[in-house]
Amino acid sequence: MSIFNDNLKRLKDLQKIENISDEEIQILLEPKQVNYTELDINNKKYPAWRIIYNQALGPGKGGIRFHPEVNEDEIRSLSLWMMLKNSLADIPYGGAKGGVKFNPKKADLSELEEVSRKYIGAFYKYLGQDKDIPAPDVYTNSQIMSWMLDEFEKRVGQCEPGMITGKPIELGGIKLRSDATAQGGYLVTKEMVSKFLENKKDLTVAIQGFGNAGHFIAQKLFEDGFKITAVSDSKGGIYKKEGFDILKLIEFKQNGNSVNDYSFGQKVNNAEFLELPVDILILAALENQITENNANKIQASYILELANGPINYKADKILDSKQKIIIPDILINSGGVIASYFEWAQNRTGQILDEDYLRNLLDKKMKTNWQRVYNKYEERGGEITLRQAAYAIAINKILTAEKLRGHIKK
Ligand code: GLU
Repeated sequence: MSIFNDNLKRLKDLQKIENISDEEIQILLEPKQVNYTELDINNKKYPAWRIIYNQALGPGKGGIRFHPEVNEDEIRSLSLWMMLKNSLADIPYGGAKGGVKFNPKKADLSELEEVSRKYIGAFYKYLGQDKDIPAPDVYTNSQIMSWMLDEFEKRVGQCEPGMITGKPIELGGIKLRSDATAQGGYLVTKEMVSKFLENKKDLTVAIQGFGNAGHFIAQKLFEDGFKITAVSDSKGGIYKKEGFDILKLIEFKQNGNSVNDYSFGQKVNNAEFLELPVDILILAALENQITENNANKIQASYILELANGPINYKADKILDSKQKIIIPDILINSGGVIASYFEWAQNRTGQILDEDYLRNLLDKKMKTNWQRVYNKYEERGGEITLRQAAYAIAINKILTAEKLRGHIKK
């Protein structure tokens, strides 16, 4: 099954909804540049990609993931989503994504460094602050960004901190970047609760994925009075009707444990986890978690895509027919790339901006973007989904840019 082809169906639906011509939509159906290589490390070969989907709005932008299941179909999809996310967020970027098929959890630090440096060795000609700007994604972090920056600067013979984001503070990163995805997700959740649930209190929440975004949003919601009744990571999940003390759970996880081994609550496997009786289900793990096989069994009324692509096309239709509200990935997880944009802009101008100022700017941008999506959804009297509203705004902007550039004639 191709995740990429599955997602193209969403673009085709949009073509009808927004009366987009065949010539126009054609430009969005294929990535502009697919770079592939194999990284040779300790006599093993690791497939690696960097894909630029579109550059009508600016240079490529998007993370690099290290994961044993990475494949080209996935990176194509992720680069397409980055294009839409950047356009919707109103930041001056096209879309891109990279990945290495490799398990960093089984690697030691020197192997991790070698993979990071060889990745840049293979692709540095296509990267740069005005070409394509990587960042962290699943199982990559600020240390990996540091090695990548260092390797890039060695190869090109000059300093260029804006070629990559998600760096440590000492190398030109910004403090905000580490919890920005969760902060953006938290703000959109609050907006959603105010619009759809009249600010109801004590809502129950399940969070699939307890990595960077998942644990930060759990903490923010917990501190705000939401009841986090279920949490999971790659080893499995736990459920407790009365809710968990998330601060203790974070400490437990940070000591190197899996939440599945936590001594409180009932253990649940991934399939059971998704079907738990909660008000809000936050998907903060990987793609394709809700499909036509389990969509009918989802009990949560509100599903939030903090990960990229966790719900497939057929599941979208099923969930919509059951009046479930889905807050799409390209809106709710855009806080990370918006903070990346602040970091990049700061690196380029040499200006150092105040942390509180940037936090306010992120909050304002997330609220504006939510409002634009919600207005579009409401304009159509609920005939389209929030995802379709978000896609429409993103696609119309890219197509306008393509027309202005003379790439679309009519
Ligand atoms: N990997 C993150 C995402 O999927 C951030 C990308 C970036 O900051 O460029 O949105």
